[in-house]
Parts: sequence; structure tokens; C-alpha cells
Amino acid sequence: MSESLDRPSETKKATITRWFLRVSAGLVAVILIASISLMLTFTSAKLKVPSVDVGDLPPASPPAGMSVSVLPTGSYQSRAALTFNGGSWSDIRHLAMTALLVRHPKGNLLIDAGAGKNVDDQVKLMPTIQRLTTDYTKAVPAAAQLAAGGIQLTDLAGVIPTHAHLDHISGLDDLGGVPVLVNAKGKRWIDSKKEGTEVINSLHDVNYRLYDFEGGPYLGFPRSHDVWGDGSVVIVPAPGHTPDSVVVFVNLPSGTRYDDDVSGSGQEAGKSSEIHVLPDRKHTIC
Ligand SMILES: [Zn+2]
Repeated sequence: MSESLDRPSETKKATITRWFLRVSAGLVAVILIASISLMLTFTSAKLKVPSVDVGDLPPASPPAGMSVSVLPTGSYQSRAALTFNGGSWSDIRHLAMTALLVRHPKGNLLIDAGAGKNVDDQVKLMPTIQRLTTDYTKAVPAAAQLAAGGIQLTDLAGVIPTHAHLDHISGLDDLGGVPVLVNAKGKRWIDSKKEGTEVINSLHDVNYRLYDFEGGPYLGFPRSHDVWGDGSVVIVPAPGHTPDSVVVFVNLPSGTRYDDDVSGSGQEAGKSSEIHVLPDRKHTIC
């Protein structure tokens, strides 16, 4: 009697086991296909760059008191595949985490904020694949360098992040309520809370200040925003790496022109004799 009762139960168990194995195999197959599909989107490829007519050099009248200082806050290593479209997994890029201080009679600006004092915790918020394939080295945060140079946060008119990834905005956390200048499209991306926006959305009380690209074409870019109206600091949209990416052109009274872009702020800046290093007793900070 007990034998005949056990048999249906064993049959049921075997059916459940078969069903479980089929579902598991199906899930493994789906995860495998999804993983391979994701990896294929990162395959190395030559970037096609169309020729662009940059036109004439735009006019600029930077004031005599204008200068640029570089604030190195650390460095960041990442696979090229995670840095730009067509990059290779084997190509390791060494990127600067640098803020640039642009002093201008109408208001001092920071371009990017580099690595801040909370960078160790912020790194943990990055997407897993990025966290596992990147490394970074910390230096002195921008806020501490400004303080050492005698510059108060109230002396800053704003910060212009070239985009909202950790290596550019980590230090915003140390800058209190200094206005953070972003364009509307960039703010929409930040508010979407999509992958890549984890760190900036973890910051508290960011004082966003929206600007428009109300100006005309600039060196091949379709639109522009002239921050002080004198051509000294001009922002142009450069979406691609992220939807909020911009390039900032800084034009000095000497006639020298720089651009600060998404590939690693101010990477070359420290090599220029026209760009100061903070704190630096040879270059008075005022
Ligand atoms: Zn980035």
C-alpha cells in the first residue's frame, strides 16, 4: 500500500527536477548570450572621423587679469574599451583627475573637480565592470589645494564639469554650494539615473545652475555658450562619451588657447609654462 502511494510522489519529484534543470539551462543560455552580446559591443574598431570645417578662429577678448592654474587630484587607469567607442580591452589609458582653476575678473571658475576626499566610497558606486577594470591614485583634493592657496569657496563663481563621471565630479562633494554649471540635456541624463550617473546622484545638495548653448557654431561644433561674454571661456556640446559631455575652450590674454575635454582634464596642462600649479609660491594666488 505504501509502495503504491510513494510512486506518484517520486514521479512528481522527477518531473519537478526535470523542469528545474530545463529552466536553469535556459537561464544559463540567456545569460551567456547576453554576456557575449555585451562584450561584442566593446570590440575594438577604427573610429571614423568625418572632416569638419572649423572656420575662422573665433574672436576673444580675455581680460588682463585672467589666468589658469592646474590642480592635480590624482590619476585614473581605465581600459580604452570603457573610455571611448572602438577602444580595445588590452589598451590601458592613464587619465588625469585634474581640476583647472580659471581666474577671471568677473568670477573664478573650476573646470572639473577631480577626485575628492570621498573618492574611496564613491568608487564603490561605479558599475561593477568598470570598478573591476580600473584603478586610481589619490592626490590632494581640489578644495584642499584651493584652501592652501588662500582661495575660499565663496571666491568661486561656479564649477563646469566636462561630464558627470567620477573622475571629473568626485570633488564636487567638497565644494559646498558652489554652483555647478550643466546644460539642460546633461541635467536630463543625470536625472535619468542611468548607468554612469550613480556617483553624481549620490552627492548631496548639488547647486545646479543650467545654461543654454545659445551661441552659434564654434570651431566645428554646432552651438556654444560664452560664459563671460568675452570669448575667454566657451563651452560647446560634445555628447558621445556621455550625453552631458562638453569641451571647454579657455583663451588667455597672451593669445594662447586651450581646450579641456572628456579625455582627461588638463592632462597636458602641467606642461605649459602659462599654467600655474597650486599651491605655488612662485605664482601669487589672489
Ligand atoms: Zn568619463
